[in-house]
Amino acid sequence: MTDARILATPTRWPRFLLPDPPAAVPMDLEAAVQAGAFAGLRAAVLELGAEGVMQAIGESGLRGRGGAGVSTGEKWRACAGAEADRRYVVVNAYQADPAVLTDRILLERNPYAVLEGAAVAALAVGASEVIVAVRVEAADAIRILESAVAAAETAGYLGPDVLGSGIQIDVTVRPLQGAYMLGEETVLLKGLEGKRGQPEQQPPYPTTRGLFGKPTLIHDPQTFAAVPSILTGEAARFAEIGATASRGTILVQISGAVARPGIAEVPLGVTIREIVDVAGGIPAQRRLKGLLVGGPSGGILPAEGMDVSYDQASLEEAGAYIGSGSIVALDQHSCVVDLAAVLTRFCADEACGKTIPCRIGLRRLAESGARICEGQPRGDELTRITDLSSDIVESALCDHERRSTLALQSVVRYFRDELDAHIVRNTCPAGICQPKADTRAGAVS
Ligand code: SF4
Repeated sequence: MTDARILATPTRWPRFLLPDPPAAVPMDLEAAVQAGAFAGLRAAVLELGAEGVMQAIGESGLRGRGGAGVSTGEKWRACAGAEADRRYVVVNAYQADPAVLTDRILLERNPYAVLEGAAVAALAVGASEVIVAVRVEAADAIRILESAVAAAETAGYLGPDVLGSGIQIDVTVRPLQGAYMLGEETVLLKGLEGKRGQPEQQPPYPTTRGLFGKPTLIHDPQTFAAVPSILTGEAARFAEIGATASRGTILVQISGAVARPGIAEVPLGVTIREIVDVAGGIPAQRRLKGLLVGGPSGGILPAEGMDVSYDQASLEEAGAYIGSGSIVALDQHSCVVDLAAVLTRFCADEACGKTIPCRIGLRRLAESGARICEGQPRGDELTRITDLSSDIVESALCDHERRSTLALQSVVRYFRDELDAHIVRNTCPAGICQPKADTRAGAVS
C-alpha cells in the first residue's frame, strides 16, 4: 500500500473519511460491515428513497472537494432532473497533482466508503452504472478497489439486485493514463470515452450532458466517501462542522518545512495553523516564509496565512484555493519567486492548448517569472504579470486557466520585498536564483 503517514488529529476533530483505528484489511467486507459499511446504502434503499437521500445530502451542506466547491445536493438534483434514458455516476479519482496522495490513501484505506457513497448517489439520481476512474500509477488502489467491488457484488451490496430491491448498480474500475488535465471533470469524461482530453465549455454541465452525452454525476472520492456518514445519523453533526458554505471534513497533505509531513483528516474551517500543528508545526531552526496552498495551480500565502481558515471562500479571498488539498510550508531556504515561476511554467506546459489566452498567456506569464529569477526583468514586469493574469482569468474556459495565475499573482501581492530583491538588487534572499544585473539600455536598475 502507499507509504504515507496518517497524522493523528485532536480527539475533538471528527473522522468521516479515514477509519480510526484503520482497518487491518481494507477489503475485508465482513469487518467493514461490522464497522458500519453499507448502513448508509441500506438506509437509502430501505427507508429514504431517492428524494429522502437528496434531501439529507442537501441539508448536510456537503460540497464537492475537488476544487469548484459546488453544492452536492444541487448537483444531484440537477442530474436526477435531467431528461434521459440513461445516467452515469463517475468517481473522479484521477488526482491530477502527482505529489498528492490523499485520494489514493482514501481508496486504499476505506474503499467501501467510496463505493457505498457512489452507489447511494446512483440510487438518488437514477443511474445504474458507476465508473471509478483511477490514475494507472495507483496500482494498489486499483487492486484494492477491484477486490472490494467483487466482494460487494457477491454480498449483494452492488450488482443486479442491490439488497434485494431490484435496483441495479454496476461498478467498474477504470485505470486511466494521461496528463495533468485529466483531473478536470470534462477531460476525464472524454478520457473515459477514449477521446482527446480537452475541457468543454460549461454549461451545459456534466449533470445534464456528460459521459456519452448522458447526465453524469461526477465527484472526487472524498465527496462520495462522506455520503454514508450523512445517511446514518451524522447529518446534523456533519452540517455543524466547518465554515459557512463548506461543511464536514477533508483530507489535507502537509509537507515542506514541518516536523512530521503526512496526511490528516481535518474539519473545514480550522485555521492553517491548526493543520500545520497536526504535522508537528515548524521546527525551531526553520523560519516560516510562506505556504503553498492548493498544489501546482495554488497560491503562495505569506507566513500570516497561518491564520486563514481552511475553507474554499476564505482561501480564495486570501489568493489560494483548496485545489489538490496540499499545504507546503516554505522556509527561509525557499525562493517564492522561483517557486511561482516554476509552477506557472508547469501549468503552461500542462495546458491542453484549446484556448489561446491560456495557451499563449500562461507561457508569457511564465516567461515573466523566469525573467525576474534571472535578473532580466523588463521595466513593467509586475504590471505585466497583474494585467496578463487578469486577462487570462477573464477569458478562462476552464479552472486550469483560472487558477494557474495564482502563484505569480500571490507573490506580487504578498512578497514585494522578495521581488524587489530580485528586480532591484539582483539578489535572491534564499540563494536559489542567480539574478544577474541587466546592463542593457533601458533595463531596470
Ligand atoms: S483554458 Fe487552458 S487548459 Fe483550459 S481548455 Fe483552454 S487551453 Fe485548455
